[in-house]
Parts: sequence; C-alpha cells; structure tokens
Amino acid sequence: MTQSGRPQRIGAVKQITSHSNPIVKEIKGLVAQRKHRSQSGLFVAEGLKLANDALAAGWGVRYLALGPEARDNPAAQKAAATAKARGALILEASTAVMSAMTRKDNPQTVVGVYEQNLLGAQDIDPEIATLWVALDRVRDPGNLGTIIRTVDAVGGTGVMLVGDCTDPFAVEAVRATMGSLFHVPLARMSKDEFKALARRWPGTVTATHLKGSVDYRAPDYQEPVLLVMGNEQKGLEDDMAEACSTLIRIPQAGQADSLNLAVATGVALYEIRRKHLEL
Ligand code: SAM
Repeated sequence: MTQSGRPQRIGAVKQITSHSNPIVKEIKGLVAQRKHRSQSGLFVAEGLKLANDALAAGWGVRYLALGPEARDNPAAQKAAATAKARGALILEASTAVMSAMTRKDNPQTVVGVYEQNLLGAQDIDPEIATLWVALDRVRDPGNLGTIIRTVDAVGGTGVMLVGDCTDPFAVEAVRATMGSLFHVPLARMSKDEFKALARRWPGTVTATHLKGSVDYRAPDYQEPVLLVMGNEQKGLEDDMAEACSTLIRIPQAGQADSLNLAVATGVALYEIRRKHLEL
C-alpha cells in the first residue's frame, strides 16, 4: 500500500511531446490554482532534490516528469525508477513541455506531482512532540515555506495552520520549504480546535506579540512547546492570544514597526530550542 492507502501499482513510462496533452493540462492546473489542488489532493514540487526528499519520506507520487537533461542523469534515473516502482507514471517531456507545465521559462529538469498529506487537530499528540508552531491566518506562501524549513532545521515537530491560511501546497510555498515540506507534518484546524488543543497542551504555550511584556529570552520553555505566531497584517487575534500563557516580545531598536513573520518565527525558535542545538 502507498502512504495514502491506495493499493500499490507498478508505474509506466510515457513520452509527452504535445502541450495539449491532458496530463500537461492537469499539471498546469495544479501549478496555477488552489481549487485544482484541493479537488485532486495533489500538488507539484519542482526539482530532483525535492523528488528525493519526497521519495525518501514515503510520500505518494503520481507523476514524475523528466526533461531531456534528466534522462542522462543517473540520480534522476534512480529517482524515476523508485517512483515507477511505487506506481508513478514517468513522463519523458521536451524542455518546451516542461516549461508549459511549470509556467516557467527555465524549468527544472525534474518535476513531481505528489499526494497531499495534511493532519487535523485530532491527529496531534503533544506527548510525542518537541515543539509545534501554530500560524494564525498566515497569508504569504514564502513566509509559510520558510517557517516550515526553519521548524525542520531546529528539530521541531510540526506546523499548525489555524483559520484561513495560504495553501502550503502552492508552488511558491513548496519551493520555499526546500524539501522540508516532506519532513515536517502539517495540520489544518479551525480557531476553536486550536483553542481546545492549547487548553490541554502539557508544555509551554506562548505567542509572539508586539504587545508582549516578556522578553523572548526570559522564559524557561517547557517541552512540548506550542509557539503561536500572528498574521502578517493584523497580528494575533485576541482570543488566540488569550489561549496562550505568555506573550513574548523580541526587542527592536530601529524604526521598523515589527519583524517579518518568518524572521520573528526563526528568532523565537532558535531561542526556544537553544539548549538542544549544537554544532
Ligand atoms: N501589524 C501587525 C501587528 O500589529 O501585530 C504586525 C504583524 S508581524 C508582521 C507578524 C507576526 O510576527 C506578529 O503577529 C508576531 O507574531 C510576530 N512578530 C513580529 N515582530 C515581532 C516582535 N518584535 N516581537 C514579537 N513578535 C513579533
């Protein structure tokens, strides 16, 4: 069985030369529109590194498209053989078709279509966690991808998407994770589900907040930590802030009103995880 529970099937190889091939149109739709990604439960990740990350982490792979250069590349051929053994359709495409699929002039030579994995609030077990980051209505896919990558880097457990968030499977978000998407569990939930989870959370529940009265370097953070971050424009909703036991602030010296969301998350994460990180 694949991770998605579908029966294992052995894949095949198909040459694609026409831009109007239905699979090319399907991939274009997945790149361009959230609606297509939500309806199909699929998404696109560009590049051989991400293909290797996805395959190593056992994600379901539907298609692996190879441009001309990938066909002489042993690493790309190995990825294609693994994907094919897991039931993927391998697409051998021209550079022009790879360009059309990804809507890029300079396409990557390997492009994969994978099955989405998204947890719900009920799937989160704080007892086996080091740290989760909860994002209140994150809007920017680059910020989201960067945060997923940073959570991976500090040995965090996962990222919660609370309320109406940007799509973690948008191409820009996936690209910004640099492959960490395949290693960091993501959970989507409503604000009420988040508040219920925060109430029963066994460790420190803290939010970064511009009105926070506690220096972020002061607390003795107890694992599992739940670090809550506000929306890029509006900050954190009041009732979400009330669900946290402390509001921490990162001191600033110059004229900037605030830090960028992903930067603030990184600064807080490195402090919270400081004693666990060594060169
Ligand atoms: N105008 C928004 C506000 O009033 O909160 C600014 C939001 S800021 C760009 C996005 C998020 O990053 C904030 O909600 C907070 O979680 C975090 N953040 C940014 N700078 C911070 C700082 N100096 N201290 C604590 N949190 C910060």
